[in-house]
Amino acid sequence: MASSSSSSLCKELHFLLIPLMSQSHIIPIIDFAKLLALHRVKISIITTPLNAQKYKSIVTHALKSNLNIQLIPIHFPTQEFGLPQGCENMDSLNSLEMFQNFLLASEMMQEPLEKLIQDHMEPKPSCIISTSPLTWTQQLANKFNIPRYIFQTISCFTLYCSHMLNETNTQDTLVLDDDTFLIPNIPHKIEFTKAQLPQSTQDMKSLVDKMKKFQDLARGTLINTFEELEPWYVESYKKVVNKVFCVGPVSLCNKGMDEMVDRGNKGSIDDEHDDCLNWLDSMKPKSVIYACFGSLCHISLLQMKEIGLGLESSNVPFIWIIRGLNFTLEVEKWLRDENFEDRVRGRGMIIRGWAPQVLILSHPSVGGFLTHCGWNSALEGISRGVPMTTFPMFAEQFYNEKFIVNILKTGVGVGVEVSTTSWNEEKSGVLVSKDEVKRAINQLMDQGLEGEERRKIAKDLSHISKKAIQEEGSSYLNIKLLIEDVMHVLKNKEEIE
Ligand code: UDP
Repeated sequence: MASSSSSSLCKELHFLLIPLMSQSHIIPIIDFAKLLALHRVKISIITTPLNAQKYKSIVTHALKSNLNIQLIPIHFPTQEFGLPQGCENMDSLNSLEMFQNFLLASEMMQEPLEKLIQDHMEPKPSCIISTSPLTWTQQLANKFNIPRYIFQTISCFTLYCSHMLNETNTQDTLVLDDDTFLIPNIPHKIEFTKAQLPQSTQDMKSLVDKMKKFQDLARGTLINTFEELEPWYVESYKKVVNKVFCVGPVSLCNKGMDEMVDRGNKGSIDDEHDDCLNWLDSMKPKSVIYACFGSLCHISLLQMKEIGLGLESSNVPFIWIIRGLNFTLEVEKWLRDENFEDRVRGRGMIIRGWAPQVLILSHPSVGGFLTHCGWNSALEGISRGVPMTTFPMFAEQFYNEKFIVNILKTGVGVGVEVSTTSWNEEKSGVLVSKDEVKRAINQLMDQGLEGEERRKIAKDLSHISKKAIQEEGSSYLNIKLLIEDVMHVLKNKEEIE
């Protein structure tokens, strides 16, 4: 908690948090808001009406804990930008190609927000913290002459390695998909193939260039990681951009069962949640593998079958989450035709829709996490001490796999060789077979020395991560430094005026 003298100054601070409307941005920003609000500052989170509705209960929990957090909805023009009706979150985008329109629609939030700040917001915001694709928030910050900080939902390892590849133009020297190379100028031997690098369209390349340009204008960068996890990369990244504050793992702010259940989409788990927890309670410690592929991956029917059959043949008890958009009529038909759920009854459980991931990962019966390696998921696995079977698909997920498997040494890869370029299921096809899924799960859950060593490292990292967010821990202190930085800017502004 902030000391009483700084506490009274903090009371005058008003942080405006603006996440891109995607689960992997809104969820960690709300978690971060809860950690920030412990320092007695006021926080307004800006989002769209449907998202404000979806995340309302999280704010209710925060208010019960006397945290000053509010959600403010701003109109989001879907139809004008050819987006499906009600598509206010990236998890309901049908294709990656629509992302550009989604981003353009988000720019339309600037004007009404500007007006709201001008006419109604009191106290006026002291700063803006927004995720990197929302570059228009820098213009908003300029307009009100307040600093903008970027909130990064990826690791320092990824940020620094991508920076290095860019600096050395490594990608330009690669011709064939299976051309291998080492990331230059880092202390670890990290090998990639060209095909594993994030594949991007021309639109995505322009967005990345734009984000880089706006990165230089930001006052600082907050990163959902903790210094002890990746010290060399944190120190190195600090030399690349202005003021870095490692403030994670933010998901550790969720301590109560209700908070963990209400995190993100509430969905099918409402009905199944008791069954799922009762079932987990009946299992042996660390015996279950939890399989979840995040909120965005579009997985083909063929690949779904290989995942299901791999889970089944591993003979390891499992919970398999099939997210809404992947849960098609074909998938349901396949499950039914195969009698899949009867075959695995007692040993395997399918959740259709949304799972309370952090709650499941915190359960003592969970001993492994089959993950697509989104950074939030990876960090949630790390902070809960759960070793991982890594199944990256696109974007920066291959960096996260390499970090988990080669640097932390708490994971086993399923062996994906190619990053997908599209969310279209015919194009993404089968990345790995059921035998590879089975092999990687069995290797991860193995009770031999290698498995023991992985579990020990995972447990130690979980312990260190918890310390980071506690009072006087590294991330806690970095949040204090951030608040001091904002106060410093405000003081200078006052002196000039
Ligand atoms: N998540 C969840 N339940 C689900 C699927 C996802 O709680 O059924 C949460 C997960 O805990 C994480 C976020 O959604 O916080 C997904 O972010 P991540 O960066 O892992 O992946 P993305 O969704 O961007 O691919």
